[in-house]
Amino acid sequence: MNWYLIEKINDTLYKISENKHWEKTNMYYLIGKERNLIIDTGTGIKPLKSVLTEIDNKPIDVVLTHAHWDHMGNIHEFENVYVHQLDLNWVQKGLPVPESFIKEMMLKNVDEAFLEGFAYPPLYHKNAQNILEFDFMGINIIHTPGHSPGSVCLYDKFNEILFSGDILYEGTIYCHYESTDPKDLFESIKGIKEFKLKRILSGHYSDPEITIINDLFEIMVEFENEKLLHHGGGLKCKESICLQL
Ligand SMILES: [Zn+2]
Ligand SMILES: [Zn+2]
Repeated sequence: MNWYLIEKINDTLYKISENKHWEKTNMYYLIGKERNLIIDTGTGIKPLKSVLTEIDNKPIDVVLTHAHWDHMGNIHEFENVYVHQLDLNWVQKGLPVPESFIKEMMLKNVDEAFLEGFAYPPLYHKNAQNILEFDFMGINIIHTPGHSPGSVCLYDKFNEILFSGDILYEGTIYCHYESTDPKDLFESIKGIKEFKLKRILSGHYSDPEITIINDLFEIMVEFENEKLLHHGGGLKCKESICLQL
C-alpha cells in the first residue's frame, strides 16, 4: 500500500500526490542535469526523500511554495531548503500555530495502516535559505503573496507550466487567516494572468484548467466592486474555484 501516488508527466517531471490524505497535497519533482528539484515536501506523514531518490538519485534541492505545515512536512530530510524571505522565519523557527492544531489537521481520517512508525515531523529547518539564492535551469520564481506573505509560484518558461502552490487550485482558496492578505492576492492573480500558460500544476487536488485564473480574477473583481476585498468579506465561487475572505 503506497502513501504516495507517482505520476510521470514527462521525462524530467513527476507529480507526487498524497491522494490518500484529505488535503490531497501535491509535490513536483523536476529532474535536472546535475541536481534535481522538489517543489514542496508534503505533510510529513511518510518519508519522502527515499521515494524521490528511487525515481532519480541526483542531489535534491527543495523549494517551498510557502511555509504551511502541509507543504513542508519532510524538510528535515533535506539539506538545501529554499523559501521566500517573507516566510523564512516560519521555516527556520517553526510555525506560530499550536502543535495540537497541526496534529489534528495532519492526522484527520488517515488510515491507521499508514501511521505505523509515524513520528510527528520537526516542522522547521534552521538552515533554510532565502529563495533569491536559488537557481534551476528554466525555472523562474514569481513572488505571489496573499495566501501567505512569502508565497511563490514557479514558472517553467520552456514548457509554459505554472506551479501554483496554494494560490490556485480546484476548491476553496483560503485568504481569511491573519497572515493572509486579500489585496496582495488580487495583485498576484493579476500578475500571473499575463503569463503564457499551457498547464497549471497546483498544490492540492487534480490539475486545474487554465481558465481557473480568470475565474479567480473575476471573483476578486466582484469582491472589490462590492468593497468586500478584505478579511471577513465572505465566500464566493465560480466554476471549480471558491475564495474565502
Ligand atoms: Zn497553504
Ligand atoms: Zn496547502
